[in-house]
Amino acid sequence: MMENKEELARIITAENGKPLKEAQGEIVYSASFLEWFAEEARRIYGDVIPASAKDRRVLVLKQPVGVAAIITPWNFPSAMITRKVGAALAAGCTVVVKPAEDTPLSALALGELANQAGIPAGVYNVVPCSRQQTAAVGEVLCTDPLVSKISFTGSTATGKILLKHAAGTVKRVSMELGGHAPFIVFDSANVDRAVAGALASKYRNSGQTCVCTNRFLVQKGIHDEFVEKLAKAIEKELHVGNGFDAKTTQGPLINEKAVEKVEKHIKDAVSQGASIVTGGKRHSLGKNFFEPTLLTNVTTKMLCTQEETFGPLAPVIRFDTEAEAVAIANAANVGLAGYFYSQDPAQIWRVAEQLEVGMVGVNEGIISSVECPFGGVKESGLGREGSKYGIDEYLEIKYVCLGGL
Ligand code: NAP
Repeated sequence: MMENKEELARIITAENGKPLKEAQGEIVYSASFLEWFAEEARRIYGDVIPASAKDRRVLVLKQPVGVAAIITPWNFPSAMITRKVGAALAAGCTVVVKPAEDTPLSALALGELANQAGIPAGVYNVVPCSRQQTAAVGEVLCTDPLVSKISFTGSTATGKILLKHAAGTVKRVSMELGGHAPFIVFDSANVDRAVAGALASKYRNSGQTCVCTNRFLVQKGIHDEFVEKLAKAIEKELHVGNGFDAKTTQGPLINEKAVEKVEKHIKDAVSQGASIVTGGKRHSLGKNFFEPTLLTNVTTKMLCTQEETFGPLAPVIRFDTEAEAVAIANAANVGLAGYFYSQDPAQIWRVAEQLEVGMVGVNEGIISSVECPFGGVKESGLGREGSKYGIDEYLEIKYVCLGGL
């Protein structure tokens, strides 16, 4: 059935509207987790620990946690599954995947590929369900004693519900939850690089990634130049349209609710004094298409600087001092990704260490990669995915004491 990567990418574009080029990138990213964890499976080393008693030997074994239930969102319908499933299978677990209602086809396509690859029946299982059934299915997965591990990617609100369910049987949990990424541009930054990073970090997947910049903090000396250049770049380089059109960089948002949230954030900001530099409304294409938007004169009292927008809205806050920027950046109950642009080495160390996030991009706006640990602090989650650390989420450590030797 699945002849090539192109077919999988087309499924993604058809499911969630992202431009085909981005979907092709997701397929490569998605496959990288299977390749990476296939190699990591060979490095699940135990330990021999020097014992304190002469007649003892102490061993440490690493064993699979057991059945893992995996609940994933629609924004990366393939990669969010393989980032978990790759690690789980490498550790020796079987999995039950519940994909998002909007994007079940990628999960099922991966099932077909698992069959073709010779993965035994019952190892990779998919339970698609309608949104009406989601809460009930989620509860079963999180409470059934046969399930040992819950790995979830999605909103912080849903993560908290699943954590409560999982507490009853003390299941192992990994949570990749929402973000509210700051993107700080200091006076010392290379403005052109910062603009390119801003465009990529904010508008990829039409702003619908958990690591997308949610608020820009720009120092007063560089503010006007940055805003002017970013507005020009948005107008020149971003093209809203059908994901299957080659020139499209911005597909539709996932649904009407997502569009309403962006509108609500813009309306609230404008009512409190923000100015629309570009965009600001639904696109003339209609439906779920929205114009890439840039706002200035933004303050921390506005909704868009207090919660995740998950859409193509870039609010810019002007600041005076480094301490002020770090304080604003850290004044959030979540901490997934954070970005800043600076060419001052001392400032780079200071700010990288002070930001309360799990991932920092310094002079880079796109930082996710298979070999790097992905995850957040605060209410952005628990645990790490990808990298050499990701497999530990599916392994138990067993201590064996050999006595009387
Ligand atoms: P969501 O509503 O939490 O949905 C994510 C998944 O959870 C979907 O499969 C959804 O199913 C399911 N779900 C919803 N309510 C549930 C319940 N009560 N029990 C069990 N499952 C339930 O998240 P979203 O709004 O679609 O996705 C966007 C969010 O995900 C953003 O906050 C974003 O930051 C976050 N995200 C985080 C990461 C990360 O790695 N940290 C990556 C991507 C996205 P239905 O589709 O059927 O509702």
